[in-house]
Amino acid sequence: MFLVVAALFSLYGNVGQKTERVGLEKFISQINAGEVESVSVEGDNMKITLKDGAVEEVKKEAGDTLSGLLSNFGVDQSKLTGVKIEIRQNEGLSFWLGAILPFLLPFLLIGVFIYFMMRSVQGANSRAMMFGQSQAKEFSKDTKDRITFKDVAGVKEAKEELLEVVEFLRHPKKFQELGARIPRGVLLLGSPGTGKTLLSRAVAGEANVPFFHISGSEFVEMFVGVGASRVRDLFKKAKKNTPCIVFIDEIDAVGRKRGSGLGGSHDEREQTLNQILVEMDGFDPNTNIIVMAATNRPDVLDPALLRPGRFDRQVVLDNPDIADREAILKIHARKKPLSKEVSLRQVAERTPGFSGADLANLLNEAAILSARRNKKIIQMDELFEAVEKVMLGPERKSRVITQKEKKITAYHEAGHAVVAHFMPHTDPVHKISIIARGRAGGYTLKLPTEDKHMYSRTEYIEEISVLLAGYLTEREIFGEVTTGATSDLRRATSLSRRLITDYGMSNKLGPRTYGEKEEMIFLGREIHEQRDYSEKVAEQIDQEISSFIDDAGRAALVIIKEKKETLEAVVRELMARETIERGEFEKIAGAKKTAAEDEKIGPTKEVGHVPEKLEM
Ligand code: ADP
Ligand code: MG
Ligand code: ZN
Repeated sequence: MFLVVAALFSLYGNVGQKTERVGLEKFISQINAGEVESVSVEGDNMKITLKDGAVEEVKKEAGDTLSGLLSNFGVDQSKLTGVKIEIRQNEGLSFWLGAILPFLLPFLLIGVFIYFMMRSVQGANSRAMMFGQSQAKEFSKDTKDRITFKDVAGVKEAKEELLEVVEFLRHPKKFQELGARIPRGVLLLGSPGTGKTLLSRAVAGEANVPFFHISGSEFVEMFVGVGASRVRDLFKKAKKNTPCIVFIDEIDAVGRKRGSGLGGSHDEREQTLNQILVEMDGFDPNTNIIVMAATNRPDVLDPALLRPGRFDRQVVLDNPDIADREAILKIHARKKPLSKEVSLRQVAERTPGFSGADLANLLNEAAILSARRNKKIIQMDELFEAVEKVMLGPERKSRVITQKEKKITAYHEAGHAVVAHFMPHTDPVHKISIIARGRAGGYTLKLPTEDKHMYSRTEYIEEISVLLAGYLTEREIFGEVTTGATSDLRRATSLSRRLITDYGMSNKLGPRTYGEKEEMIFLGREIHEQRDYSEKVAEQIDQEISSFIDDAGRAALVIIKEKKETLEAVVRELMARETIERGEFEKIAGAKKTAAEDEKIGPTKEVGHVPEKLEM
């Protein structure tokens, strides 16, 4: 700023310098010579404009008048007739400014400076006041991409339940006349990606009432008390806008069981939760506010949240079954050009266990793949490849493996495949590959023919056999094992532990569960499992795990030894082509014989060295 001011001054000064300062005697002589055009008097200064356009400045004695001056110097009256004389008062604004500005300017600058400082401080102040306000977003009803129930496939029961809620809000009278109380809270439960957030937005789109949307984590702040005051503010806003819906996403961020915290940081969360409880209790029964919340961890929620009068309606969203998967795929395929031969049904068949979000992601991956191959439409090939990519991670064709490693991987995967094929209760093998994918060095993909929700002990034991088959084949053929089987072993172990401790499938230890799965968070780690059994039982569990694994391993080994020719044939094929599809595999191994037609399915049981995510 100072630089700018200095520059201005010097400019102004420059203008002034163009007028030449001259002495009185020169002025007089110029008048006498008749060279003067006009004289303007301003206090003691006179500005003289010459006929040739030049400007001069002359100072006269204070108190002297121009006419006195001229007569004193004996200037001829006749010479003065052609000269314009102008007397200007000294009190012009410019005069005062010129006189005062140099003093005033520094003060002005300081003043402006202080003003801006005050303003920013005040801004911070008012922001501090805003701190306790909730950042709830209100959905406007007429946005372009409004989501309605039409955009949510499947989850039929959930939609029905929510439609009822919407109905309540639209026509409260109808229900009140019959003495029905409007439900206060609806809790959406479901694993990640099942469409909880989507469904709530659809409710907002359908309801035609204001819809406040906030995420549980937005209550959480560094300072104690902020969360609670945000809750108060949120409900205050809601009460001004009745009827309305308040949606708290990921409520487990604040709604965890109280009193289980280690360390002090939990005070804040508990206060926030208490405030939510208080607010939900505080509604007058006739206020038309419905609180919706979503979580994927219902087990950690505080029981007080779940009692009648708070979240008394609980809507469970399951992972979609085959028909729903097809419907979800259809919804997400709406804006994508699919080739005519594409059958979304087949894609749905190959994706048991996929959530809605996985399916949306799958179609996106397929579109990306097609674009990278410069295609104009999406074909079946890309869709199937996208399925595998979403399931197992991207192919890593470039990973260099030695011929020896390739051979070991081939035997390992062929072992999985052959054992899976000849066990009566396992799912058919869909694909075997020794191309690295994600973290897996190779993989064997088995897919159930139908969705299934219950599994028997036999199926699980066979599953463990299949998991161990890779390891056992390596040992059988090469006489030793590699690190490639690590995750197979881990999964086999944890599966057999679960059979014993959770499912009561051990004959020795009987029908009870072992270990209380209680959740506490300490230093960011979840501490699981509280032992509710003795040291002696722990030992028995360990023994039982070993004996499950031994049995399963023996069964697998029998098949590996018996079907050695098939195994070798599969390995030869794998070494030559790296990937075998179901049809080719069954040409080598024969059609799969199942135990009974009505009991042959399970979840996606894929048995490569798999990423953790796929753990059953
Ligand atoms: P969450 O249950 O974890 O909140 P979201 O509602 O955010 O899951 O779902 C993620 C995405 O998955 C959605 O944006 C949508 O594209 C897709 N999706 C999930 N379920 C469905 C469904 N039933 N119908 C259509 N799309 C779905
Ligand atoms: Mg969500
Ligand atoms: Zn394996």
